[in-house]
Amino acid sequence: MIKIQKINSVIEASSLCVDINTPPILKTLNFQVKKGEVYALLGGNGAGKSTTLKTFLGFNIPTSGNAKIDDQEVTEALDTTREKCAYLPESATLYPHLTARENIEYFLSLANIRKSQDDINQAFQKVALQQDAWDRHMQTYSKGMRQKTAIALALLREAPIFLLDEPTSGLDPVAIDEFNHLVRELALSGATILMVTHDVYGACQVADRIGLLRNGELVGEFDAPENGRIDTEEVHRAFAQKESA
Ligand code: ADP
Ligand code: MG
Repeated sequence: MIKIQKINSVIEASSLCVDINTPPILKTLNFQVKKGEVYALLGGNGAGKSTTLKTFLGFNIPTSGNAKIDDQEVTEALDTTREKCAYLPESATLYPHLTARENIEYFLSLANIRKSQDDINQAFQKVALQQDAWDRHMQTYSKGMRQKTAIALALLREAPIFLLDEPTSGLDPVAIDEFNHLVRELALSGATILMVTHDVYGACQVADRIGLLRNGELVGEFDAPENGRIDTEEVHRAFAQKESA
């Protein structure tokens, strides 16, 4: 008997509809992200990007269709699915009057996770947060540094799935490159990443697959060639064309 291998998708939207008011925000959305993949959902303002992420976190209930994390319907297994996900909202919400280390210790204690100072230092090193900032109040941090801290926390939580909302908006080009490099490293170490963005160039730089989202509908997908990146021009053309259509 031929055994059909099940595609092991970690994040899956199938015929996903979210209808908070009219018109519906997400309309029969279908996409899958496999383990170790970076998927960028690309779309303009109001396309439904943040709504998609919030649905995978269980903050929106699908009107129909499915939003699954590791084969579990999010709304039926909220605690388990949320535990697996590290969510970076557009502006990372850590406490400005605490240091990065204190923030990390505090959030780990809330999650009942014990880590040594060595573990925390290693996480800071992994995300390339400059050492002289580790014990500084986060109010002095740039957005890039706050994001690195949020990712260090996710690494210490050992979250295998990252949901990133416009992670590079407001970053300077050097910080964008650093961030994209970190995302690729996370994927190489087996993490699964769903990021939403309106930045064509950044999406092409980092994603294995790009889904073009327009008015809550997926209107195209682009795959990176083996050992290569998705072509920026091609995606830009499709994005501009679809947006103005
Ligand atoms: P994006 O992140 O792509 O900019 P959003 O997902 O935030 O877009 O929003 C998509 C659309 O859904 C927008 O028109 C927005 O006004 C609407 N929307 C988002 N959340 C809600 C909500 N809780 N109630 C009503 N409308 C919402
Ligand atoms: Mg948004």
